[in-house]
Amino acid sequence: MDVVRGSLFIGGEWAGAAGGAEFTSFDPATGEPVGLFAEAGRTDVDQAVEAASEALFAPGWAGITAAARARLLWRVADLIEEHAGELAELETRDQGQPLGIAQGVSVAGAAEHFRYYAGWCTKIEGTVTPVSFPDTLHYTRREPVGVCALITPWNFPLMIASWKIAPALACGNTVVVKPAEQTPLTTLRLVELIERAGVPAGVVNLLTGGPDVGRALVEHPGVDKVSFTGSTAVGREIVRASAGNLKRVTLELGGKAASVVAADADIDSAVEGCLQGALLNSGQVCAAYSRFYVDRRRADEFTEKLARAAAGLRLGPGIDPDTQLGPLVSDEHLAKVDSYVRRGVAEGAHLVTGGSRENGALERGNFYRPTVFGGVHDDMAIAREEIFGPVLPVLAYDDPDELATRVNDSDYGLAAALWTRDLSTAHHLAARVRAGAVFVNMLPIPDSAAPWGGFKASGWGREMGKYALDVYTEVKGVWMHLG
Ligand code: NAD
Repeated sequence: MDVVRGSLFIGGEWAGAAGGAEFTSFDPATGEPVGLFAEAGRTDVDQAVEAASEALFAPGWAGITAAARARLLWRVADLIEEHAGELAELETRDQGQPLGIAQGVSVAGAAEHFRYYAGWCTKIEGTVTPVSFPDTLHYTRREPVGVCALITPWNFPLMIASWKIAPALACGNTVVVKPAEQTPLTTLRLVELIERAGVPAGVVNLLTGGPDVGRALVEHPGVDKVSFTGSTAVGREIVRASAGNLKRVTLELGGKAASVVAADADIDSAVEGCLQGALLNSGQVCAAYSRFYVDRRRADEFTEKLARAAAGLRLGPGIDPDTQLGPLVSDEHLAKVDSYVRRGVAEGAHLVTGGSRENGALERGNFYRPTVFGGVHDDMAIAREEIFGPVLPVLAYDDPDELATRVNDSDYGLAAALWTRDLSTAHHLAARVRAGAVFVNMLPIPDSAAPWGGFKASGWGREMGKYALDVYTEVKGVWMHLG
C-alpha cells in the first residue's frame, strides 16, 4: 500500500500545518510507514476553534431543520458502508487489528453510530414544567453545548471517533476532532466522507498531531466541551487543564475488568468467552477481561484450558485472513506489556504460557505471545494495573460472598463479566459490582443504543444511547408570564 498523505481540515479547507511540520504513522505488523500527516501547531488550533465557533451559529448549520441534520448523518452512515472494505483495510494497516475485527466491529460500529444518532435528531425534546407561579408557562429547550473538542485513542480509532462525532452533530454542536498520533488514518478518511455527505464547512474540523495539540484544545477558551477517550492519567490532566472556562468534560478512561467464573459455569464456554473477551484487538480494549476470579474447585481446569487455547492462537498481520491475534500498536507499548509480565514473574505468579515477544517470521512487527498466569494474588501489579495487552491473570476464590469486595477493590470501574448458569448469582453480583457495564455470559462489545462509561477512575459521564444527548446539550428553561 502507498503511504497516505494527510492534511488538516479547517473551515472546509484541506491544508498542511501552518508551521509545515509533519509526522509518520507505522504499520505495527511490519514497521513500515503507512501515513505522513500534518502536525498541527497553536495557529492551526486557533483557526480550527474559530472555524467551529463561526459555523455554530451560521445559518447553514444552526438554521437547518432537525430532519435535514438527520439526513446528513444517515448519508455519512451510507458512505461508511459504501467504503467499508477500504476503511477496514486502512484500520488494519494503521492499528494492527485483524481485518475481521476491523470489518465487523470498527467499520460496522461506526456506520451504526451515525445511523442511530440520525434517528435521534428529530426526537431531542424539551418539557413543559408545572412551576408554581401563577399565569406562568415554563418549558425547557435542549441546546447544543457549543464547540466540542473530541480527543480519541489509538485502539479503535474509527469507531471511537464516530461514537463522539455522531451524537455531537445530532445535538447541533460543531467539533474539532483530534485522533491519536499513532492511528490518524481512518479518522482522516471519515472526515473526507463527512465532507462528501454535505456537512457544512466548519462544522467538523480535523487536527492531526500529538499530545500538544490535545493540550492546546483542552486549554482553549473557545472550546466549550471536551469529550476524551484515553488513559486515566491524561484524563486527570484534562480535568485540571479545562478548569479555565469550566468546560463540560466527558471522560472514557482506563479499565481493569474482572471476569468471574462461578462454580456452576459451563467451563468450556467460559474459557472461550474469557479468551475472546481478553484478547479482542490483542487485549487493547478498555473493557477487556483482564483479571479472572475462578471458583477454586474449577481454577486448575480453567487455567489449563485457557492456557492451551491461548497458546493455540495464530499470530500474524491483521491483513492475513487466517490471523487470530494481531500485533500491539507500537514498540513502546509492547515494552510496557512485557515489563508487566516481568513484574508478574518477579512477584511470584506462575507463568503458564506466553511471556515473550514472538520472533521468527514476525520479528519486524510488535507481536506478543498471549500470556496466562496462574496463582495470582489480589495485590500483584498484574491483577491491579491496566496492562492493555494479551496478559490473563487467574485468581482463585473460595467464598462467593467475598467476590464483590475483591472485584470492587480497584481504582477502575468500567466493566465486569460473570459466567454462570444461575440467574440469582447473576443478578446479585451485577447489582453489587461497581462498574458501568456488567456482561453476563458474553463479550464486552458496546452497542450504540446502550450507555457506555465508567464508575470511579474509569471516567465521567456516559456516551452512547440517549445518555449522550445529556452530555452534548445544555438545558435552558424559558419562563413566560402570561398575565
Ligand atoms: P492516551 O491517554 O495516551 O492518549 C489519548 C489521546 O489523548 C491521544 O489523542 C493523545 O494524543 C491525546 N493526549 C495525550 N496527552 C494529552 C493531554 N495532556 N491533553 C490532551 N490530550 C492528550 O491514551 P492511549 O494510549 O491512546 O489509549 C489507551 C487508553 O485509552 C487506555 O487507558 C484505555 O483504557 C483507554 N480507553 C478507554 C476507553 C473507554 O471507553 N473507557 C476506550 C478506549 C480506550
